[in-house]
Amino acid sequence: MSRPIVAILTGAGISTDSGIPDYRGPRGLWTLHPEYEKLVTVGYYMTDPEIRRRSWQLRRQTHALDAQPNAAHRAIAGLFRSGAVALRVITQNTDGLHQQAGLPAHTVLELHGTSRTVICTACGARTPTEDALARIDAGEQDPPCQECGGILKTDTVMFGESLDQRVLSEAAAAARACTVFFAVGTSLQVYPAAGLVDLAAGRGARLVIVNAEPTPYDAVADEVVREPISEALPRLLGELPLTGD
Ligand code: ZN
Repeated sequence: MSRPIVAILTGAGISTDSGIPDYRGPRGLWTLHPEYEKLVTVGYYMTDPEIRRRSWQLRRQTHALDAQPNAAHRAIAGLFRSGAVALRVITQNTDGLHQQAGLPAHTVLELHGTSRTVICTACGARTPTEDALARIDAGEQDPPCQECGGILKTDTVMFGESLDQRVLSEAAAAARACTVFFAVGTSLQVYPAAGLVDLAAGRGARLVIVNAEPTPYDAVADEVVREPISEALPRLLGELPLTGD
């Protein structure tokens, strides 16, 4: 008997219970502070030291690196460990909480990169973000690369940058291959998330949406759940072996 193939797409909503603010929700960071979008727009970031200074300060203040996985992240990692399904996680989040909850790195496709690592925009050297933040704490405003002096940025996809094509094509393959597709904590309004749902649904996968707000795909979903994610997801994943074909 073959195991069900499960793909889980996660967005900001899965991490709000870990204290990480979302961006575009009613209480989202960019909804409340529209000017923050400039801090993660590559054109501004690369040309304006003041934008970089404010970007590092905001990163310092939000303490995202201190966040801990919640029950939803743990339930996904538990599903993987159970071996009951073949699992692929596709995330729009950059917080690294799936891996911190115990998912091996190769099972997580990070569409928007990771904020746990910093990359030098000149030489490509990667270093831990916590090292850069330690330099901010020590008084540097815009810490340059210690190898070449280049501008550092988190290893995330900023506005104005393209998504990693390899990650994107692996995500598309996972969406095509799955028998069950969960969309969790994502509004499904932006590319490529919406396209992944189309791919999965087009191949006949069971579509389960877990999100506080309505999404454009609710009408075609097999199940729509509005409960808090950290309560709903452990239950839904626990039922999975019974619902998989
Ligand atoms: Zn460098």
